[in-house]
Amino acid sequence: MSFRVAIVGRPNVGKSTLFNRLAGRKMAIVDDTPGVTRDRREAEAHLGDLDFTVIDTAGLEEAAPKALETRMRRQTEKAVEEADVALFLVDARAGVTPLDRHFAAWLRATGKPVILVANKCEGRAGQDGLAEAFALGLGDPVPVSAEHGEGLADLFDAVRQHAPAPEARDEDATDADEGDESEDGKPLQLAIIGRPNVGKSTLINRLLGEDRMLTGPEAGITRDAIAIDWRWKDKPIRLIDTAGMRRKANVVEKIEYMSVGETLRAVRFADVVVLVLDGEMMLEKQDLALARMVVEEGRALVIGVNKWDAVKDKKQAVQKLSDRLESSLAQIRGIPIVVFSAATGQGVDRLMPTVMKTAGVWNTRISTGALNRWLTPVVEDHPPPLNKGRRIKIRYMTQVKARPPTFAIFASQPSAMPESYLRYLINGLRQRFGLEGVPIRMIMKAQKNPYAGNED
Ligand code: GDP
Ligand code: GDP
Repeated sequence: MSFRVAIVGRPNVGKSTLFNRLAGRKMAIVDDTPGVTRDRREAEAHLGDLDFTVIDTAGLEEAAPKALETRMRRQTEKAVEEADVALFLVDARAGVTPLDRHFAAWLRATGKPVILVANKCEGRAGQDGLAEAFALGLGDPVPVSAEHGEGLADLFDAVRQHAPAPEARDEDATDADEGDESEDGKPLQLAIIGRPNVGKSTLINRLLGEDRMLTGPEAGITRDAIAIDWRWKDKPIRLIDTAGMRRKANVVEKIEYMSVGETLRAVRFADVVVLVLDGEMMLEKQDLALARMVVEEGRALVIGVNKWDAVKDKKQAVQKLSDRLESSLAQIRGIPIVVFSAATGQGVDRLMPTVMKTAGVWNTRISTGALNRWLTPVVEDHPPPLNKGRRIKIRYMTQVKARPPTFAIFASQPSAMPESYLRYLINGLRQRFGLEGVPIRMIMKAQKNPYAGNED
């Protein structure tokens, strides 16, 4: 089933214009005269390498002002219900209106992933409206100009965070690089996650070297997490602080539970995730669940063990941690672990170098030639098993994308390839190409030998 994206927002913000832009043809009628009748429309859309169904919710203009809200709600409710993610458009030129705010509150309550889009941002006239949009509590707005086709790369990035896993999308991926995003110059998205009270805020303050959390971005500005733009050794970093949101609530009452939803969203936006553990209470069930979530989302994981100052038997603690990681997260070997004390600052300086290194591994690209030179002897040494009396034959392999490293293996009887054999290949790949500590994905494809043409 196709990934579905609904475009929602009050009249005249540019929903239809964006719809046309994404669908790549003039389908919806665009008119700024209120009263033009329009229906809800759907079209197949493309953005970057993503294919999805886009749903337009325009068509509310005829409603009498009083009925507008109800109608809008009904229309939108349906579209949003059917969608995987909602693009919530505001008009940056007009600024945020009470109707926008109302809409935002309602959208937040639905619990659907929402991407806030500030339209009409070409030129300067949209600056104020863009700033106002931050206050809607739906995360950072993506500035675009639907009319001029500006900002679509950033919109793609945002939509991609919600798209299905690459395995599902890359169905037709063929050999060689697909030239997917090379993120040079873009900030590294770094999420700091962990159970309450493990010391995330203390760590972030320490990293930023100032008491920014107390004075800084107002808690509650974004729904799930607070993003802080920062530089580490001249590299732009966007820190996503999942503790920020709770802080506001803490004033009223201490919330001791962890919201999985908010953390998941932060993880999806991240390149690298630092999972902070409390050195005295390590790898509780929740810690492991978070680690697994990061791995399943294909992000690069670094484990930060905090409160190291309070740990008595440090040697035993490290041993226990690596044993548990080995047994509970066997699919990833060599997850980097950094121990520190955020409160005293000791060891914190080792965290960012590890993060940058892991980000590099996560971005690795290996040439098809190098992969196959490695693959041939590995398969000869230990061939795949027989299936119904016929040997599964591996022909060739290629990297289809990075972030995380994802490989396609072309073989006869691809669906019969056992997991254990894939694990054997993945472990070999890790060793040979230094892919320690990041998720690796393998996609089995019907045999397609570039030298023999299509046979299967
Ligand atoms: P809808 O009612 O939300 O579907 O909005 P429309 O797509 O019909 O657009 C409303 C008006 O805004 C039209 O006059 C569009 O030409 C205009 N519009 C749409 N996108 C942009 C944009 O990026 N910049 C500017 N300046 N105008 C836009
Ligand atoms: P968060 O909920 O994950 O953001 O955790 P906080 O940063 O609010 O810290 C929770 C508690 O742990 C606070 O009382 C901190 O003082 C304490 N804490 C944070 N870092 C350290 C540390 O390195 N050592 C010790 N002993 N306590 C720490």
